[in-house]
Amino acid sequence: MTVYSGPVFEMAARQFNVIADHLGIPLDERDRILMPKRSITVSCPIHRDDGTVAVFEGYRVQHLLTMGPTKGGTRFAPSVDIGEVAALATWMSWKCALVGLPYGGAKGGVNVDLSKLSRRELEALSRRYMQELIPFVGPHTDVMAPDMGTNEQVMAWFMDTYSMYQGRTVTEIVTGKPVFSGGTLGRREATGRGVAYLAGRVIKELNIAPGDATAVIQGFGNVGSHAALELRQLGVKIIAVSNSTSALYDPAGLDIPALVRHVAAQGSLATFSRELAFDPAELLTLPCTVLVPAARERAIDATMAAKLRCRVLAEAANGPTTPEADLVLDKRQDEIFVIPDVLCNSGGVIVSYFEWVQDLQQLFWEEGEVMRREYQILDRAFDQMLSRARADNVSHRTAAMAIGVEKVRATKNVRGLFP
Ligand code: NAD
Repeated sequence: MTVYSGPVFEMAARQFNVIADHLGIPLDERDRILMPKRSITVSCPIHRDDGTVAVFEGYRVQHLLTMGPTKGGTRFAPSVDIGEVAALATWMSWKCALVGLPYGGAKGGVNVDLSKLSRRELEALSRRYMQELIPFVGPHTDVMAPDMGTNEQVMAWFMDTYSMYQGRTVTEIVTGKPVFSGGTLGRREATGRGVAYLAGRVIKELNIAPGDATAVIQGFGNVGSHAALELRQLGVKIIAVSNSTSALYDPAGLDIPALVRHVAAQGSLATFSRELAFDPAELLTLPCTVLVPAARERAIDATMAAKLRCRVLAEAANGPTTPEADLVLDKRQDEIFVIPDVLCNSGGVIVSYFEWVQDLQQLFWEEGEVMRREYQILDRAFDQMLSRARADNVSHRTAAMAIGVEKVRATKNVRGLFP
């Protein structure tokens, strides 16, 4: 038992042990690589609109300080606990190492049901959370970003709160900010764009014309909606999407730009069309070319893995597939091409890195430059993953994570015990 014990951290630990076995990492070296370096738990009191005081529990886990500052998103959701945050932080470490960013992984979160907060209460909570973490973060220590339940506005409140305490504007303390206040062009789209770019590349390698391909997307927030828009740009037909309460299905293809506008205006997917309403529980098993889980971790367990009817599984969410599901996928004769999360959604942290670099230099790039560099890094990591998978005869996930874990391990070994 550790403070992180729980289903999500146990999943991250099981995945890590598969890689450690593959790499032959001795048992006494494993905890040093897997266990988070630091975790901080904070109480965030705020005044509610009705005059009462409410206290929310927040966390920040900095997985490893070996590679440079830590980097990772902040999740505001009712599921958040320290184990989930720690698991997400470890995945960030393997991801950053895989794509060659000078960061260790981190993650943060607040256990909160956002549907019960007004905008003023959300601002108070965002500012209070950042304020509590000021002693532990910094542009060269730990750089935050958005994740589920947080957005550009929340990042702007984080940045402003930190800056007020420093007495000057410190844009480089967070990434995912609005473009006009130190953000980068292309960050909002980056994760979904990267997912679509890699899925497009795989479709091509499978000799499927994009016009003949269909996609199903679970989760229609930042990542899911941008993945949908970008896949549509490539010519892929999006036949189904869902959010936490509803799903829409149209075999003729959904009008994604209209859906994005509708959700932005109404905050609801369900009200877009009654005729297209579909059972969200059936979504993942729809026949399609590309399945994009872009919501929660552990959406695909062993039972679900046996029922998938896609050619490509593009893991936009973090940890959507359990280790038991991986075993099922590995054995399936029809070979689903898995683009594992650590690679598939890495466009987000790649462009966050670009934002940090631009803020530090106060020199800002055109969007085309951001995209060119994002795709270049994705292509390189994809190629490395494929050749490693072939050379070691292992799954794409094992190959991708092995590259990340190996880099972290090598750096720890040359540096010593301190970081
Ligand atoms: P978001 O809050 O913008 O959107 C999340 C979406 O998922 C919402 O539409 C929500 O209704 C939906 N959802 C939640 N539970 C669901 C369920 N059980 N079934 C179907 N839909 C459900 O969050 P996001 O930033 O788009 O993040 C989505 C996923 O992508 C998360 O796993 C996150 O960790 C990962 N991710 C995000 C980024 C980023 O840049 N935002 C980067 C890398 C990975």
